[in-house]
Formats: sequence, C-alpha cells, structure tokens
Amino acid sequence: MTVASILKQKPDRLISVKDSDSLADVAAILTRENIGAVPVLAGSGEMVGIVSERDIVRQIAREGAGVLGRTVSTLMTTSVVCCSPEDSVASTMALMTQRRFRHLPVRSNGRIIGMISIGDVVKRRVEDAEREAESLRDYIVRG
Ligand code: AMP
Repeated sequence: MTVASILKQKPDRLISVKDSDSLADVAAILTRENIGAVPVLAGSGEMVGIVSERDIVRQIAREGAGVLGRTVSTLMTTSVVCCSPEDSVASTMALMTQRRFRHLPVRSNGRIIGMISIGDVVKRRVEDAEREAESLRDYIVRG
C-alpha cells in the first residue's frame, strides 16, 4: 500500500498558511479544520516550512500567549521532511516514528500535493491487517 492510496481517501484540497500569517491565525485554522499541522507556502507556492500545534503550545508555555501575535516565520520548522505518493505506508510510519513527528507533506514533481498524518497511516495499516485476517479466515473456512 502506498501514500497515494491514503491521499485518494482524503478531500482533494491542501490547507496551507503563509509565513506572514500570525500564529493566532494558524491556531484558528488548525482548530477549524481539525488538523494538527500545516505546510507554510511562499507566494510562488514553494514550501518554506511546516508549523504544528506542538510548536505553538510549546512556545506559549515558554513565553506566554503573547506569542500568538507573532508571524509563522518566527516559529516554523524550515527543514521539512517529505514523502512521495509512491512511498509505502510502512516506510512513512517508520520515518515518523524515528523522527518523532506526526505529519508528512507529500511532494510530487516538486509540488506539495497533500499532507498525511500518523493517524492516517495507522488507520490504513489497521484496515490492511483486518483485510488480510479476513482473507486468511476465508481461505481456512473454504479449505
Ligand atoms: P508534530 O509531531 O508533527 O506535531 O511535530 C513535532 C515537531 O516536528 C514540530 O516542531 C513540527 O514543526 C516538526 N515537524 C512536523 N512535521 C514535520 C516534517 N514533516 N518535517 C520536519 N519537521 C516536522
């Protein structure tokens, strides 16, 4: 199973923010869209970073709620790790576990075409395991 099969089941739109947006705007978008992270895109559409709810919560804990007035550029992670639609779901799970983040932008032909989360990956792996168990049961019952 590949990352492309996860993207097929998700709405075909990319939620993103600009580096000049405020962290308050980002917190509102994460809440409204019920997501945990967004890619940060420049005017050209190029990805320049990623910002997650963890970044915002940690910064508030360090400095107080005043940080919400700051821009995304002051907090985003700029070295973003991406995956491709052809990558296996298992490899993205290993990558997220090793690197300790829960989100991966999906890049194809130099463009970000979607985002997958650890939740998407776990859901897909559980569905695959259930399907496999069912085929094995069928195989045993039918002989
Ligand atoms: P997360 O677990 O995804 O909420 O993110 C934890 C930390 O990793 C935050 O500092 C994020 O900005 C950062 N992060 C999340 N996803 C990625 C990614 N794909 N590449 C690089 N950093 C990331």
